[in-house]
Amino acid sequence: MIRIDGSKGEGGGQVLRTSLALSLVTGAPFQMENIRAGRAKPGLLRQHLTSVKAAAEVGGAEVEGAELGSRALTFRPRAVKPGDYHFAVGTAGSATLVLQTVLPALLSAGAPSSLVLEGGTHNPAAPPFDFLAQAYLPLVRRMGPSVEATLERPGFFPAGGGKFRVDVRPAPLQPLHLLERGKVVRRMATALIAQVPFEVAQRELTTVGRVLGWAAEERRVEEVKRPIGPGNALALAVESEHVTEVFTAFGERGVRAEAVAEAVVEEARAYLEAEVPVGQHLADQLLLLLALAGGGAFRTLPLEGHALTQIETFRHFIDVPVTVREVSPRVREVVVGRG
Ligand code: AMP
Repeated sequence: MIRIDGSKGEGGGQVLRTSLALSLVTGAPFQMENIRAGRAKPGLLRQHLTSVKAAAEVGGAEVEGAELGSRALTFRPRAVKPGDYHFAVGTAGSATLVLQTVLPALLSAGAPSSLVLEGGTHNPAAPPFDFLAQAYLPLVRRMGPSVEATLERPGFFPAGGGKFRVDVRPAPLQPLHLLERGKVVRRMATALIAQVPFEVAQRELTTVGRVLGWAAEERRVEEVKRPIGPGNALALAVESEHVTEVFTAFGERGVRAEAVAEAVVEEARAYLEAEVPVGQHLADQLLLLLALAGGGAFRTLPLEGHALTQIETFRHFIDVPVTVREVSPRVREVVVGRG
């Protein structure tokens, strides 16, 4: 039995989700202790519990400790069953993170799957739907499987109520090489608002124009029709010849629109200046895909906690070497397997 200390590394939900994903793919059972031990609300929150239950359903797993607040879990998968699934977080917890828990197993399953996911689709500290659809899934498709995601309704914290569909046609994952970004061909800043004044979106976009110099036709407001609750996200999409990246910030009560925009503008600026293809969030998510493919390489910014935790976590399940080389102070080259 693989034993994992959930408080190690980044110590958040990612250690758990990555372990569930790899347990499903490899069929290896695991036991985890100290789940999210260092977080303000430790143990399994609704979103993590939904991920555990989703993984258990997809893998026909026997599970101990699948309860709210639980800090220990035992997960014994049987066989991965492709098919139709409906997973609802039940709160505004991230539904995209639930998807990322079960997706790796379904990508290489014996038949197609269709999933409906409900919960938060635009959450801080999780991949927003637009990032999933424009940055992450195109890379999955390039590696072989076909995956299409359709947003039915965005869901923001605290009301939730978001919904999206995902159709998966599996194929063996092939190594991916993403060393060059190529020329930037399109940039788009989208201020998404639900029950939030139009003026908030305008101020965010004005900041993007002022700091990054993006033109009026590279900025747009998108108003959610019939929203379940209020919310605001500012997404900066950078489409280059070889990759698309999406950077997102979230509006919050008491945080000025300009401050929301400045945070994400800085993230996009660091990415653009380093001339790397892969940003910080995409890096940790891509690492898992390359590890499953058994090879590949990409250039990114200096690795942060989540990426290092991914590497530590997959060592428990799969024997694939990962090397990180400093190309320059701002650029790292990550090589998985033999590249
Ligand atoms: P954790 O904080 O451990 O629950 O993991 C959060 C996951 O969401 C990591 O894989 C992050 O890379 C990812 N993530 C967080 N914020 C973003 C964002 N703005 N865009 C894309 N992915 C994100």
